Amino acid sequence: MFTLSLSDIKTGVTYSDKTSVIQALATWLQQDGHVAPGYGDCLLAREAQASTYLGQGVAIPHGIRDGRKLIKHTGIKVMHIPAGVAWGNGHIVYLALGIAADSDTHLGLLQQLARRLQKGGLLEQIMACDNPAAVLALLQAPPEPTVVPQHLPIPIPLTRAHLALQITSSSLAQLVTQAADLLGLEGREKAAFQQSSPLHIGQGWWLCQAEASYPDAAMLTLKTAPDTSQASSVVGLLALQVNGQEHKALLDRLGHWLAAGKGAELAGKASPEEFWAALAQGPESRRTYSEKTLQVYNEHGLHARPSAMLVHTAKSFIADIEVRNLTLDGPWVSAKNLMQIITLGASAGHELVFRANGPDAEQALAALAHSMNENLGESSLAISSESEPTALAASPVLAANISANTRFTGVTASPGLAVGPIFVDLPLEFDYPKQACDAEAELQALSHALTRSRADLAVTETRVTDPYAKELMAMHRELLADTSLTLGVQCRIQRGQSAAAAWWSEIDTLTRQQAANKDALLADRAMDIRDVGHRVMALLCHRQQPQPPSHPYIWVAEEISPSQLVNLDTRQLLGWVSVGGGASSHSAILAAALGIPALVAVDESVLTVPSGTTAILDGATATLCLAPEASLLDQARGWQQQDQQARDKAWEQRHQAATTRDGHLVEVGANVADTREAADVVAVGADGIGLLRTEFAFMARRQLPDVAEQQAMYQTALDALVGRPLVARTLDIGGDKPLLYYPRADEDNPALGVRGIRLCRQQPQWLENQLRALLLAAGKRPLRILLPMVTDIAEWRWAKALFDSIQDEIQAPDVQLGMMVEVPAVALNAEVFAAEVDFFSIGTNDLAQYTLAIDRGNGALAALADGLNPAILKLIKMTVTAAHQQGKWVGLCGELGADPVAVPLLLGLGLDELSVSLKQVALVKSHVRQWRLSDCRALAEQALMATDAAAVRALVMQAKNGVAIAQGEQAGSH
Ligand code: PEP
Ligand code: MG
Repeated sequence: MFTLSLSDIKTGVTYSDKTSVIQALATWLQQDGHVAPGYGDCLLAREAQASTYLGQGVAIPHGIRDGRKLIKHTGIKVMHIPAGVAWGNGHIVYLALGIAADSDTHLGLLQQLARRLQKGGLLEQIMACDNPAAVLALLQAPPEPTVVPQHLPIPIPLTRAHLALQITSSSLAQLVTQAADLLGLEGREKAAFQQSSPLHIGQGWWLCQAEASYPDAAMLTLKTAPDTSQASSVVGLLALQVNGQEHKALLDRLGHWLAAGKGAELAGKASPEEFWAALAQGPESRRTYSEKTLQVYNEHGLHARPSAMLVHTAKSFIADIEVRNLTLDGPWVSAKNLMQIITLGASAGHELVFRANGPDAEQALAALAHSMNENLGESSLAISSESEPTALAASPVLAANISANTRFTGVTASPGLAVGPIFVDLPLEFDYPKQACDAEAELQALSHALTRSRADLAVTETRVTDPYAKELMAMHRELLADTSLTLGVQCRIQRGQSAAAAWWSEIDTLTRQQAANKDALLADRAMDIRDVGHRVMALLCHRQQPQPPSHPYIWVAEEISPSQLVNLDTRQLLGWVSVGGGASSHSAILAAALGIPALVAVDESVLTVPSGTTAILDGATATLCLAPEASLLDQARGWQQQDQQARDKAWEQRHQAATTRDGHLVEVGANVADTREAADVVAVGADGIGLLRTEFAFMARRQLPDVAEQQAMYQTALDALVGRPLVARTLDIGGDKPLLYYPRADEDNPALGVRGIRLCRQQPQWLENQLRALLLAAGKRPLRILLPMVTDIAEWRWAKALFDSIQDEIQAPDVQLGMMVEVPAVALNAEVFAAEVDFFSIGTNDLAQYTLAIDRGNGALAALADGLNPAILKLIKMTVTAAHQQGKWVGLCGELGADPVAVPLLLGLGLDELSVSLKQVALVKSHVRQWRLSDCRALAEQALMATDAAAVRALVMQAKNGVAIAQGEQAGSH
């Protein structure tokens, strides 16, 4: 444990600004041999990423990760600045702790400081300090005067008054009464507590618990020598007032002592301090633990799947392994218990401390480190965050007799069109007695249901082929093996509840707790808990889920559980619709992987529609149309047929050029996030890679790839393109694309913050390495380099100068340097940029976001965020005009390029290239071939004058019908 001394503290110092304080701290750390020269820059770099202001006048400047190599040994220097110094964001700092840490030894001090900050009043105490001894006393002040030190990881406030050690008691019943007194229970509450039957949990320890309006606990131990050979012996009692889950940590602590066979030893502790320390630290002395701090690299944190993998790894060792979330300063939990791991709330970037105790502790920590560093079996590539259509207003509540063309709107979880009868899968109603008199029989029923459920899951796991589904089933089995869950149920049964009631109470509590998680992805896992809960309930209540029909159908349910979806015969499944669920839920991911159209967040009145009702599920409009009239049905079936024919034809002609009917050629490139996809680019008929989003390769790693690694990556793409051009965009990190190994600044609006070129200006070496790797990889092949998020001409000129200096050295012969047009300011000022760039590529995803002031990830506003808004068309027009006047070419690489309605307008506006996702290339080429450039130009002129996006769309649809008629007439005249 790190300790401060008086010589580490200076009081009464004066500085005019934050930078001077930080540099002075760095110089002091250097003078005392803690760091090498240059550490001040690391402290300032950290400050640029995120302010180190802690609160109440305290800041803790510390270095960036890269700065660790400058640290010789841990040191902290403290400056007390009575006049204060501005720290940004209106904060004034009076106490600055300059930190150089090469290990975690200083964390205790910081945690203590952080806890004091939470309590308030610290600022006044800091202001009152006038010498180093006073500051030292303040920083090392003892914890609160309770018997429970704040840092001990037991959330229930077990105060001195609630510990009664080595007492005498004539019977268990009397002990329970003593516990009730300790807890301050009176009247009916006390009587109820006395009547609850205590449960023997092993080695003479008993548990007595009652539901209460707030959580509380008491522990009592007996003086009498324990007799652990008999179940009726009594050495101690844990009395719990249960409300929520807080009591579980305490139960777990006691469980650790019992699991180690040392229940009597714990009960023998005489003083409250000794008892508490023993309880907190576990049956072995803390000193025998080996510890390791590891970072969570999984993009979506430790949701159920990686958690299951972590538990699996931990369980393969004998050692006792615990883990706590250091970032959230959470409690220790068992690393072998899935439910507890999920409650860590570990998000990407959080640091977890593992501690292991046992013969293979070191191996266990090494294996966990390996597993965590391998993302616990997950890829860290981002799941695409395409915006989802809006969930619109609820539909009217329907009677069983549904009127024709009733429409429900939801959010598309997986696109496509399905037509067929619905199957409404209503949740099973469970009927069960709340109480049971034969606890033994109920325990047996529970055990039987758990065993059966696990066996069923194991069978499914071997049957399914999809690796994701397999993992899901394994994870559900792991949930069933959770001992704290079953212990909770057993306790309830012992207290007289039926197995079904006890099981459901525990599942319900856990589900609610999980659903309340702030992290949406972790909250989605509530569904897995409920799913597992239902499986066991069905067995306990002898109920069977109704079977879906044997003919093709659209599945409608409140929530479609992951295991239901996995068990499905997907050959019959046309689509699915759910009332609950999120677009990122397991089910949505599975549905997308299966290619089944799916809607979520549909109004619950859809469940009142009778099974068998015909429906049209349209992912494009996020609607479910029930009982459609014959004409609508014919139209939908016609669309399905036409859609398929158009796809087939486009695919056959994918290698033909995208030339309009009047001979104008447009290039159609492919958007790619992974250079390994380059092999498919030629196969789908693309004219090259129109956008390589290089940031994804950086995001998938745990550290920046060096020049050689990047060069190899870009070479893979260029090789696969066999002479076609590669448009590679330099790093577009920031906004919704964070780099885990580069903690980002705490920004209120990351989309308006340090992203793309703005970040590269802060990290010039990153851009230099990337440009070098690209130019080295190019050889004589055509390479187009694209700079993201440029807003100001100075940014462009800075990057261009860097590019020129490297290109002077490498001299790749066929390279152009261009920039994205994503910010309205650039389009409005396009002539200035057009004079200097080689080309533009318009990023309509961001251009729409910044022009319309709509967060591109906000599903609720997705319907408003239409890229065909005339304002955006005008910006495109300005960009193209400016570029063409200077003889430069313009591409477009946003999603708009794949919208069939947008294609003629983009042609008419003069785009020279469109770049779309791999799946869309053949279709976009075929759309281009349907139009005449002259018509497109006229159409674009009209669109620029339209009132809104809807009017633009109507205009194109009208023109499209005209084209279709003209084409039909022409075909007829042949
Ligand atoms: C865009 O903004 O349109 C674009 C292509 O870039 P990204 O979607 O990667 O931000
Ligand atoms: Mg963009």
